[in-house]
Amino acid sequence: MIIDCHGHYTTTPPGVGAWRDAQVAAVTANPGHVGEKGSVDVTDDEIRESLETAQLKLQRERGADLTLFSPRASWMAHHIGNEHTSRFWSQHQNELIRRVCDLYPDNFAPVCQLPQSPGAPIDSSVAELERCVTEMGFVGCNVNPDPTGGMWTGPPLWDRYWAPLWDKMCELAVPAMIHVSASCNENFFTTGSHYLGADTTAFMQALSSGFMKDFPELRWIIPHGGGAVPYHWGRFKGMAEDKGWDFDHLLDHIYFDTCVYHQRGIDLLVDVVPIDNILFGSEMVGAVRGIDPDTGNYYDDTKIYVDAAITDTTDRRRVFELNARRVFPRLIVSEDVHVG
Ligand SMILES: [Zn+2]
Repeated sequence: MIIDCHGHYTTTPPGVGAWRDAQVAAVTANPGHVGEKGSVDVTDDEIRESLETAQLKLQRERGADLTLFSPRASWMAHHIGNEHTSRFWSQHQNELIRRVCDLYPDNFAPVCQLPQSPGAPIDSSVAELERCVTEMGFVGCNVNPDPTGGMWTGPPLWDRYWAPLWDKMCELAVPAMIHVSASCNENFFTTGSHYLGADTTAFMQALSSGFMKDFPELRWIIPHGGGAVPYHWGRFKGMAEDKGWDFDHLLDHIYFDTCVYHQRGIDLLVDVVPIDNILFGSEMVGAVRGIDPDTGNYYDDTKIYVDAAITDTTDRRRVFELNARRVFPRLIVSEDVHVG
């Protein structure tokens, strides 16, 4: 069984973007705009078509079984509008993910986005997480460490601001992928420096603060191979020794996915990071959609790299399946139903 812990609905039917465009236009014209949730005009057939030609097709071709599926990350755009903007948008996006998982329960399991909003209390994110997990069977969430979209003016992840969300995640037994959204700061390119910088930043905030000790059941997945963390493992470990920070305890809480798009990157990841802390992921269909001319393979077909990097069959099974089951305890995989 091969579980891909990192997939987004990047190929949504046009009705989704149309709803969002209208919402963004309204809140641009009037920053205090509340509006109504309304409805998103998308049929089941449109959902099927959008997946059969993309994620499902690639899943089958590449030999993965189940994708933990969340709304398109760059579209979360928590910096747009006000608290109501993100609330309605997140609800629609999560309900769409639920529909996908109802149509393809063997292929996808639901992971939600949260209605974070700069300057707003975390309460609405806690409420949406609870709704998604307890009413709609979601097994995980994406948490944006920088809802300002690249300005980084909000509280760091160790700040007590976030504590109610960490508490709720522990209570519900769901992990978070720490995943930023679009950058509105032209210094940072969204899927390049902003994503990888945020991955590195989240790890550093956890390391320097030691705050995760207060949340024994808290689990994070740091995506995109952990940003710069595995490559600079010795820097972080050495800094921790100099500063008296506890490096090792982070491995009880933090996991890295395999969304690294070349063989030597994956070789380094599995060489440096303990095998129990690595989850298979590809993030398709995502930031890099082409074929590497040097290998003839899709850059984001990360299963090829993992197969080549890990020769021990038990270790490979850990990365492909067992670690994901441990990190996502609500993921119940049985003969015909994947979602608890
Ligand atoms: Zn992603």
